[in-house]
Amino acid sequence: MDHFDYRDGAMHAEDVPLDLIAEAVGTPVYVYSAATMTRHVRVFREALAGVEGGSEALVAFAVKANPNAAVLSVLARLGCGADVVSGGELQRAQAAGIPADRIVFSGVGKTADEMALALREGIYQFNLESEEEARTLSAVANALGVAAPVAFRVNPDVDAGTHAKISTGKSENKFGIPCDTAPEAYARAAALPGLRIQGVAVHIGSQLTDLAPLDTAFARVGQLIARLREAGHAIATADLGGGLGIPYDPARPAPPTPAAYGAMVAKATKGWNARLIFEPGRLIVGNAGVLLTRVIRVKPGIEAPFVIVDAAMNDLMRPALYDAWHDIRAVVPTGGRFTANVVGPVCETGDTFATGRAMDEVNEGALVAFMTAGAYAATMASTYNSRPLTPEVMVSGDRWAVVRPRLGVEALIAADRVPDWVNDMKGIE
Ligand SMILES: *Cc1c(COP(=O)(O)O)cnc(C)c1O
Repeated sequence: MDHFDYRDGAMHAEDVPLDLIAEAVGTPVYVYSAATMTRHVRVFREALAGVEGGSEALVAFAVKANPNAAVLSVLARLGCGADVVSGGELQRAQAAGIPADRIVFSGVGKTADEMALALREGIYQFNLESEEEARTLSAVANALGVAAPVAFRVNPDVDAGTHAKISTGKSENKFGIPCDTAPEAYARAAALPGLRIQGVAVHIGSQLTDLAPLDTAFARVGQLIARLREAGHAIATADLGGGLGIPYDPARPAPPTPAAYGAMVAKATKGWNARLIFEPGRLIVGNAGVLLTRVIRVKPGIEAPFVIVDAAMNDLMRPALYDAWHDIRAVVPTGGRFTANVVGPVCETGDTFATGRAMDEVNEGALVAFMTAGAYAATMASTYNSRPLTPEVMVSGDRWAVVRPRLGVEALIAADRVPDWVNDMKGIE
């Protein structure tokens, strides 16, 4: 559920008309609803009510889904922790007021510098992705004279049934260590100085629309926890990752609800006697954002007209990257419908948001909203084609604010440097 609704014929974000924001800030622009995020955190927490130890679970928002400082600040106030995958995300989470003891460090290639930063800050847990990484962390922690709290991320070899590019729990994926050989890895890591083994972690992929692969993965984690405890490891935490899908296409069956996920977790983790960690990203912010864009012009096509909008693949990469489907709606619908191709102005055929889409009829100058654009959206924006970096706005009730101004072309040019010797180079006579 989200707080983007039509009132008096125009789409609003909570109590603010989107056309007002578009007028004031220009397009393209991301607009977030704080009430929607807040609701999703509450619903997720409520879903854990039936889980053993659910009220003490750490809900660590996956910062990579949306690292905007205002977004993180709202989530910090709701008591969320953070799942970070870089030193930069760690700094962002802390700057937004998320305490270090609620921060988990995931990511397949943590550098020694990032490890040192996280150790100095005193984060809650490192999710190690390999024994090689364990050795590096051991050396870094040892040099700092501290003990790093660690879990291994295990790869349960399950097919998450999602897009290949966001599937992480198959044995051929780069993530984690195999479940089968994990006991030996734990034994070797336990012998290293500077590591304090405290848990097990798993994350099998994103936009999961079926609970069965998660259930299978959690069962494997449960078995592993038992084996590790038998071997004498004090396993106190179990990090179940994120990954729960959200509805993008209203015409498709809705993904499992947080309540159904919670019920599955309750069964799967019964008797584990471990502090549970969850790392939801998309679920919290996905439906809490839209990308507002204006139609530059409509060009005739052979099969269907091309609606050329002022947002492009550099602003919203998901369709080009993952064939992602976003609902596309007119902000002020005229009532007419048509079939169109929706494309951006970037010089790539991949800069296509929708092909042969039945949608609200729109003309030049109309405002259009790409729905469900709060996760893995603004954060992936680039300046390809020398396009300004997309601004972001947050709404709460009838208040709204620019939470990241548009980074203009002047700023992009100013960031480049031309070495003096270029001026001495000979041209072609
Ligand atoms: C990306 C990621 C998440 C968040 O996934 P969502 O599908 O957004 O919930 C959680 N944990 C890890 C380790 C991740 O890489």
